[in-house]
Amino acid sequence: MLGLMQSQPLLISSLIEFAERHHGDAEIVSRRVEGDIHRYSWRDVALRSRQVAHALDGLNLLFSDRVATLAWNGYRHLELYFGVSGSGRVLHTINPRLHPEQIAWIANHAEDQVLCFDATFLPLVQAIHAKCPTIRQYVMLCEAGKLPQDSGIPHLVAYEDWIGGQPVSYEWPSFDENSASSMCYTSGTTGNPKAALYSHRSTLLHAYAAALPDVMALSARDAVLPVVPMFHVNAWGIPYSAALTGCKLVFPGPALDGKSVYELIEAEKVSYAAGVPTVWQMLLGHMAPNQLRFSTLKRTVIGGSACPPAMIHAFREQYGVEVLHAWGMTEMSPLGTLCTLKNKHLALPPEEQMKIRLKQGRAIFGVDMRIVGGDGRELPWDGKTSGDLHVKGPWIVREYFRGEGGDPLVDGWFPTGDVATIDPDGYVQITDRSKDVIKSGGEWISSIDIENVAMAHPAVAMAACIGMKHPKWDERPILAVVRRPGAEVTREELIRFYDGKAAKWQVPDDVVFVDAIPLGATGKMLKTRLREMLKDYRLP
Ligand code: ADP
Repeated sequence: MLGLMQSQPLLISSLIEFAERHHGDAEIVSRRVEGDIHRYSWRDVALRSRQVAHALDGLNLLFSDRVATLAWNGYRHLELYFGVSGSGRVLHTINPRLHPEQIAWIANHAEDQVLCFDATFLPLVQAIHAKCPTIRQYVMLCEAGKLPQDSGIPHLVAYEDWIGGQPVSYEWPSFDENSASSMCYTSGTTGNPKAALYSHRSTLLHAYAAALPDVMALSARDAVLPVVPMFHVNAWGIPYSAALTGCKLVFPGPALDGKSVYELIEAEKVSYAAGVPTVWQMLLGHMAPNQLRFSTLKRTVIGGSACPPAMIHAFREQYGVEVLHAWGMTEMSPLGTLCTLKNKHLALPPEEQMKIRLKQGRAIFGVDMRIVGGDGRELPWDGKTSGDLHVKGPWIVREYFRGEGGDPLVDGWFPTGDVATIDPDGYVQITDRSKDVIKSGGEWISSIDIENVAMAHPAVAMAACIGMKHPKWDERPILAVVRRPGAEVTREELIRFYDGKAAKWQVPDDVVFVDAIPLGATGKMLKTRLREMLKDYRLP
């Protein structure tokens, strides 16, 4: 016997319809590429996303055709999120930090038909358009009539001209909720990038889950600043959860330096911000010397890389901001775990609570997980045994776009490539990427643990730990360090800094000072490149 409740597909168009009807006047504020501040409301997003849908129909785009973006976090990008997916096309957000050759490769692989781009990326589009035969319409996200002269890009139109004359009413189509809605290529540090292809259903379930109190806890009372980019894993799904909750959204555009982000948080009374540790490093680096305080910021979600404990301490103790440590990946839409305490932890002393907060957190309902050993057998949740972390659930990939890389699943589980422990309460601690784990004398050393100690030293701006071949121990850890501007610290001082903070055999054998640690397109340390940089290095 079937239930007798109404059957309605979970579609992205329903999010923008809801936001318009119930939170129509909630504000959307954007710092634009031009530097000025633009403000309007969810009602305007809805109206203009319908105009986008008409503009796409005007190009005779078919259901599931791909529409690509190369754009910062801003209101026009938000309109594309809803207009493209809502009308049944697939939004393909491209990471502009990738190499131009890789961007062209991705656009061809996805068979993008339309490319919408911010003015910042005009030179990039000029460099690649001749290599992208499937793209038949280029749209620059700018005012009507403001196209550059002689750009050399064929079929180029200004966004405001493109949508300007379109009707403002549109009947969003209804279709199978399992239809593709958007796609995102993984950074592809090895081999060609592969795309996660999200569906309307997976996106809506993820949006519901993300808004829960033990997850991102978004509400209509929040002013949310996603610093995490809309060009990578849908800004952790915030645009969708924001529409679902009707919160105010504040977009930073291209200005991600500490000063600009701080000023925006204060001016727009941001209560909630989300980003990767490198961005918050810049923000705190701006605030401390200028003795600045937050007047409204209450919570920040930090993920994408391990959040150093020193950062969690700084936010909490110096600025009164709660840090929610999160873990996930492109293949997981991206949220997997988020760290909040349980009722039984509330009576613990602050130091004990802090030990929990430093972990990556507990699984969100909808994400099932296990850790397995080299023999594929499941390992215990004792908080000590580490193994390969596997996940499954309705917003986790089953396979990559066009079957790239074959079947990624192991007995129905997606292997994340991360190594983790899980404690009896279900709290996950990521110890490493499996390819970054250091194997020394038959034991594993977590490069993240070693980096976290160094990051607590006041003279260290960034630290990366990698394993170096060793004749006796197999590998030994060394630490590459970028000093803070004007700060002094020696190799010996840093090695001494590990006293009492790590077991003796885990302490790095050497410290190498570098000007910069190479970062990938999503702001994570590129250890493959660091290893190349240090290929002539010899252990002392
Ligand atoms: P995203 O950058 O959106 O998180 P990616 O797919 O580019 O997605 O990268 C996912 C990987 O980033 C994870 O598999 C993990 O190695 C790392 N990662 C993400 N969040 C954390 C975290 N909080 N702590 C440690 N590593 C993390």
